Amino acid sequence: MPVSYSQASDWIRAFAATVAENKVYLTELDSAIGDADHGINMNRGMQAVVAKIDGISGPDIGALLKTVGMTLVSTVGGAGGPLYGTLFLQMGTSAAGKSELSADDWAAALAAGVTGVQSRGKAELGDKTMIDALAPAVAALQAALADGSTFDDALRRSAEAAEGGMKATIPLVARKGRASYLGERSAGHQDPGATSSWLLVSGAAEAFSGEAGQ
Ligand code: ADP
Ligand code: MG
Repeated sequence: MPVSYSQASDWIRAFAATVAENKVYLTELDSAIGDADHGINMNRGMQAVVAKIDGISGPDIGALLKTVGMTLVSTVGGAGGPLYGTLFLQMGTSAAGKSELSADDWAAALAAGVTGVQSRGKAELGDKTMIDALAPAVAALQAALADGSTFDDALRRSAEAAEGGMKATIPLVARKGRASYLGERSAGHQDPGATSSWLLVSGAAEAFSGEAGQ
């Protein structure tokens, strides 16, 4: 089943709710290797997003995602806001004019978003950033679709890959962002941005699975 406008907007709302629930957790992770604001930043941004998207209706999923991105860019400071803003803006460009997304459309949109984050933030896999959750999620999604997996399976594999990538940030020494200032002392802590990115990708698997939204 393709992703409908209402599933896309449910995904965004569910992410906002998950970020709110995990605000303290994300901020605790950031207190270990950053400046203790990731949960606060993301929650502020996603609350603004929810207020904004309440005022728009479909059918253009690309326009929805662009609105999310612009709202995050304008309401969230620090590194996370512009990077998540870029993710959604590029996803929105990829999905422009579409009122539903096929599995391939979803994979293309997520890939475009992640490419945007990488060109903006210059992080590679293993730098201990949100890319460590997002890039494996894209790769797993593409591999699953190339294997002929169902969309549900591909979404599940993508979420599992994001979780694995998030956990794999624990031993890493940060090479990008604030955590890189700590050098070797950044090892032994899970990256906050990789954690919020896992929440985003696993939320998509829930919102877009065949059982959802029907
Ligand atoms: P700030 O670091 O400005 O306080 P946040 O705390 O909101 O911003 O976000 C921190 C997260 O941003 C990090 O955990 C990391 O995942 C992500 N991040 C930082 N710099 C980069 C970068 N150059 N590329 C990708 N992600 C990054
Ligand atoms: Mg921070």
